[in-house]
Amino acid sequence: MPLRSIEAIFNPPPHHWVGDGLKVHNFIPTRIPMQRISPFVMMDYGATNYFPPSDTPKGVGAHPHRGFETVTIAYKGKIAHHDSKGNSGVIGEGEVQWMTAGSGILHKEYHEEEFSKKGGDLQMVQLWVNLPAKDKMTEPKYQALTKDKIVKLELPGNSGVAEIIAGDFLGKTGPAFTFSPVTLVSLKLNSGADFSFELPKENNATILVLEGDVEINSKQVSQNQMVLFTNDAEKIEIKAETESILLIMSGQPLNEPIFSYGPFLMNTKAEIIKAFEDFEAGKFGQLD
Ligand code: MN
Repeated sequence: MPLRSIEAIFNPPPHHWVGDGLKVHNFIPTRIPMQRISPFVMMDYGATNYFPPSDTPKGVGAHPHRGFETVTIAYKGKIAHHDSKGNSGVIGEGEVQWMTAGSGILHKEYHEEEFSKKGGDLQMVQLWVNLPAKDKMTEPKYQALTKDKIVKLELPGNSGVAEIIAGDFLGKTGPAFTFSPVTLVSLKLNSGADFSFELPKENNATILVLEGDVEINSKQVSQNQMVLFTNDAEKIEIKAETESILLIMSGQPLNEPIFSYGPFLMNTKAEIIKAFEDFEAGKFGQLD
């Protein structure tokens, strides 16, 4: 079976700050345009960064979203979430917050209080998943994908463990409810890992290397790099030279127009104007 071709391997762009708590490298759309990697429209990677102890938790204050979903995955450290629908939660290593902004919500994300007091390393990914046009105004919701919910799968040949967040992977299915087919899987690989898997070739696919050095479809990929695959075959083969952590992001393209502005992502300019009007009219709720 032929391997998927690699279209590009990207280095991380220079970092920027989200609020004062997330130091991130933006791969989508800085490196990969949103239409090329649909349904993903934004991906910030927070490479490991040490935060000294702080009595005031660092983070990003209340702000609105409409028309897509925000997904935060913690690899190191702890992040707390609150939103205007009254949802809140804390995620630690290997856990995920999946918020459907839908018709409109306010949220804020901060370092969890105890983590903030002690200080420590933070490593995380934030991903925006677009909603199909018919679901953009869906009721906002929140999925707390804690450790006990994430599906763990032993990889063949003592290669390590897959943590399936969403979608199908090697015969198992992750817990996240998604509005279009999305596969999101963390791979925690042992040194010497050697295995393969398949993703539908019509689905866009990328892999982020968070830790380690790996060979993906015979190409060398280093820590903090991201691989974009061509949509020409299913099979992906991974070999790890060191202990490694990877994130697979894949999904069926929506093939719908995108009109985005700031925290809103809709299909038309008129819908964006309506989003600002509704936000200013207080329709997204209240959050201090
Ligand atoms: Mn946000």
